[in-house]
Amino acid sequence: AKPIVAIVGRPNVGKSTLFNKIAGKRIAIVEDEPGVTRDRIYTEVEWLTHQFTLIDTGGIEPESEEIIPAQMRRQAELAIETAHVIVFMVDGRQGLISSDREIADMLRKSKKPVLLVLNKVDTKEQSAHLFDFYELGIGEPIEISSALGLGIGDMLDEIVKHF
Ligand code: GDP
Ligand code: MG
Repeated sequence: AKPIVAIVGRPNVGKSTLFNKIAGKRIAIVEDEPGVTRDRIYTEVEWLTHQFTLIDTGGIEPESEEIIPAQMRRQAELAIETAHVIVFMVDGRQGLISSDREIADMLRKSKKPVLLVLNKVDTKEQSAHLFDFYELGIGEPIEISSALGLGIGDMLDEIVKHF
């Protein structure tokens, strides 16, 4: 069976935008406002000599920005259980918030390989918040722009190293 890679993160960081960019088409719904319930969405990806299944964990209905609701936690837990590699996406514009820390705690406990991906870095300059994310203990953040398609090849290189 092919390895499974799940994109995990709080609402509105750009998970579905990245998923669509890699899928090469608009499968996942991208929402300006978080809170639209969707099922998990799958696509098959080929990168270099590797093939894997990519999962977008949508279906998140936040009650507040700061607390992860039960539904989001269940979704993330399911994705974490199923996945071989986890892409943990955070928002380089907004910076680190407490729901990022909650997800990071879950991911560290999972003992699975996790790539910390800092999205919305749309310029050549690094995110002003870059160094805050080291405190999550997940490793060095990989800066990307899902919207502009920057850094995605380097990120895929890092993903397939874990297969
Ligand atoms: P999700 O809730 O994590 O799936 O996030 P979405 O993919 O629905 O995106 C949430 C919002 O962030 C949308 O308005 C996207 O257009 C925007 N967005 C996603 N990626 C980027 C990016 O790389 N740069 C910028 N500036 N905006 C982005
Ligand atoms: Mg989404």
